[in-house]
Amino acid sequence: ASPSQPIRVTLFPGDGIGPEISQSVKQVFSAAEVPIEWEEHFVGDKVDPRTESFLTWESLESVRKNGAGLKGPMATPIGKGFRSLNLTLRKELGLYVNVRPCFSIPGYKTRYDSVNLVTIRENTEGEYSGLEHQVVRGVVESLKIITRQASLRVAEYAFHYAKTNGRQKVSAIHKANIMKKTDGLFLKCCREVAEKYPEINYEEVIIDNCCMMLVKNPALFDVLVMPNLYGDIISDLCAGLVGGLGLTPRYSYSTLTSHMIYFSMSFLMILILYSCNIGEKGIVVAEAVHGSAPDIAGKNLANPTALLLSAVAMLRTLELRVKADQIHDAIFKTIAEGKYRTGDLGGTSSTREFTKAVCDNL
Ligand code: NAD
Repeated sequence: ASPSQPIRVTLFPGDGIGPEISQSVKQVFSAAEVPIEWEEHFVGDKVDPRTESFLTWESLESVRKNGAGLKGPMATPIGKGFRSLNLTLRKELGLYVNVRPCFSIPGYKTRYDSVNLVTIRENTEGEYSGLEHQVVRGVVESLKIITRQASLRVAEYAFHYAKTNGRQKVSAIHKANIMKKTDGLFLKCCREVAEKYPEINYEEVIIDNCCMMLVKNPALFDVLVMPNLYGDIISDLCAGLVGGLGLTPRYSYSTLTSHMIYFSMSFLMILILYSCNIGEKGIVVAEAVHGSAPDIAGKNLANPTALLLSAVAMLRTLELRVKADQIHDAIFKTIAEGKYRTGDLGGTSSTREFTKAVCDNL
């Protein structure tokens, strides 16, 4: 694309701090002269019967048409009779893979200094197929579905990601020693795809051993690909690896993925956690992991880093890598310098001051 032909991207500013941090993204992108035109969409105030959710059909059509979306945090509406916003996005847009990078921040001391890995999670099947029933009273069954099609698709994505992002190794995470058929099929598909990428090292690691290796030495890993449930757990475990030393866990938090896992995390994680969901026909929806932070909304206190990094990840998928690198470097330079940090990182800067500092560092 050239500046005369901007790429259209759907932007969901979201709720709470969403509009403020979205404004930061727009400002930084404008300063970096990123050739993107935002098409803003807001969550409706009533359920759209066509989507069975507060997300309108027109919003989903916008992402389908543009092929790319950036999502700010959305407050989960309370009540029954409609689908969650994340589930709606995942199902309607066929978002089959969730990519979550996890790395230590330069200049900010954490428990491990060398974390730089990416979890790639199959997002549509496995234990989360929603097929549970009672056989007789006191006995229930949950079906774990693994298909060749979905496994090949996510494996292909992982190897392609490794190749195009200068990564050296893909580890398939499994429990095929016990679940011989389901995880066995998943591994078989990974092996098939691995053969097409001889330049990428391939290994298979049993999930329990993987957990131990991750907490002992996360630098052993590069790209991890896995079925849905393992991905849900391991991506949060990896998030824990970059939690700040000395920053005690302070609150409960729900992951952005549609399966609501609650866990404690340190503030540092807010800063860098983001993920990209990839769908059919290459649709990408990038999002910050944190929520709408109603306690600080509208106060010019929010840290826009996670949404900025989500936007940077989206730029990479749009092949705007030079711009992505420039913005990425400016963000981390700003944090490393330490002069402008928002309150969650122990600083006193406002959202706007931090944003300006990033723009100045571009
Ligand atoms: P939260 O992440 O919104 O807030 C937890 C704490 O972290 C708060 O103290 C908040 O001030 C702080 N915080 C969060 N993001 C921050 C940022 N960018 N900068 C500085 N501080 C930040 O979690 P919550 O309070 O459990 O949820 C609030 C709402 O957000 C709920 O409606 C929830 O359903 C929704 N939510 C949405 C998403 C999403 O859309 N991806 C994810 C999680 C929660």
